Amino acid sequence: MDTEQKKAQVNTEDMQSRERFWQRNGGSFFVAAVCIGIILIPSYVMYSYTQMLLHERLRERLVAITSTAALYFDAQEIADLRDDVERYGENVLSHPRYKAMVQKLRDVRRTNENITYVYLLGKTDDPGQLIFLADADVTEDLVLEEGDEGNDFPGEIYDASDAPELFRNAFLFPTADSELIPDEWGILLAGYAPIFDANNVANAVLGVDVDVTEYIAIVNATFLPFLLFVVLLLLIISYLTLSLVRQWNSRVRFFQELDRQKDELLSMVSHQLATPISSIKWIVEMVLDGDSGAISSGVQKELKKIQSAATDLTDLVMMILDVSRIQLGKLQVNRSELHLGEFFTEIIDGIETMAKESKVKFTVHMPKSMPAAMLDRRLMRMTLENLLSNAIKYTPQGNSAELHVSIRNQTLHYEVRDTGCGIPADDQGNIFGKLYRASNAANIDGNGFGLYIAKGAVESQGGRIWFKSKEGKGTTFFVDVPLPQGKK
Ligand code: ADP
Repeated sequence: MDTEQKKAQVNTEDMQSRERFWQRNGGSFFVAAVCIGIILIPSYVMYSYTQMLLHERLRERLVAITSTAALYFDAQEIADLRDDVERYGENVLSHPRYKAMVQKLRDVRRTNENITYVYLLGKTDDPGQLIFLADADVTEDLVLEEGDEGNDFPGEIYDASDAPELFRNAFLFPTADSELIPDEWGILLAGYAPIFDANNVANAVLGVDVDVTEYIAIVNATFLPFLLFVVLLLLIISYLTLSLVRQWNSRVRFFQELDRQKDELLSMVSHQLATPISSIKWIVEMVLDGDSGAISSGVQKELKKIQSAATDLTDLVMMILDVSRIQLGKLQVNRSELHLGEFFTEIIDGIETMAKESKVKFTVHMPKSMPAAMLDRRLMRMTLENLLSNAIKYTPQGNSAELHVSIRNQTLHYEVRDTGCGIPADDQGNIFGKLYRASNAANIDGNGFGLYIAKGAVESQGGRIWFKSKEGKGTTFFVDVPLPQGKK
């Protein structure tokens, strides 16, 4: 073997081993991916849901704090304050009314240690803008205390255009921001409450920002271990599921292999049986023909029994061989020209005798002339014979069976109808299974191979077989076989 060949062989082996790896482990990887998805998605959903609940709870608390604080303020004193702010500008800080208001805001802040900022905002003609009126942090000499960020001077415009709905609502009812605002002092949540006048109109809102950093830290500290526990639990469950799937896969492979070996054994044994049975038939025929000298009529009768038993045995062996060929995917289709008219007539002749013996009325409806097509005679025969003999077998004396044949769109279609015992609804899903017999067929001879072989034979030629049946009323089997163009 030269180097190129060796390389090619190594590549092929490599590809085969990769294919085998994926065949063996593909299912496990899929399950692992599903398990990881199952872990991550609920964990994320749980985390988000808890965050949302926490957030909602915080907002509710803040709304309560802000609306209670708003009760300290009177709409008239805010209106006066606004007049002062507009009249005196920054000088308002030394105005006694302003100082009193700042003191009030500081009092509010003192009520709760988590409150960081408390301030008053007034309405303007532009819904996207508010006027800043007062803040608990602005001192008289205009020096901003720690924590002030510069745009909260009395009279300054506060840009509210990034949360129009929030500020529209804030003048109607107490509300809180839906977003947490991280700043250098921690995570803040802002709440607003309207300050209504006697006509129930609010021209100012009280704003309260609370620091929720600690609250979130505490909740996370209790929630994270719980989340970790859940993730761990799900991981363990996934690992166990994965191991089970692996075990199950290896068992399935083991049984598949066993089944394959059994089919091969069956196929081999049937092959080995076929030859001695043929010999028996051949020898019996010779003896019956008198090749070994004259025989008495008694011996002749017994030999005929042996001949008939040997024929039954041949049929059974051939059936078992076909079953194992179908199972192993080795059923061969040998197409040759088949004259459909002659083919149907030949089989119908045999079935008519059987129908007569069973006292079943058998009628045939088929076109006067039919074309020849490239089909496998043996497979076609197996299917048709099985369906027709079943129709007679499972139909009681005095009832009827029919064969309808037609050709449409290059497809042979035939139906075998009977008014026999029918197939119970519970058995209908398994009827094409190997060795399966319906519960009402126990007293009728059979082995449950026929329909399995019929299905294999039809499908191997690209056709389709199906049925409809009602217990006690009868059964119709339908067969479609495509007709490949052959010589006419
Ligand atoms: P069997 O040798 O038992 O007839 P088949 O594979 O041909 O095996 O059929 C499988 C089963 O399907 C039968 O045992 C019978 O219960 C049911 N069956 C098949 N054909 C008919 C029919 N025409 N009427 C009622 N039952 C049927």
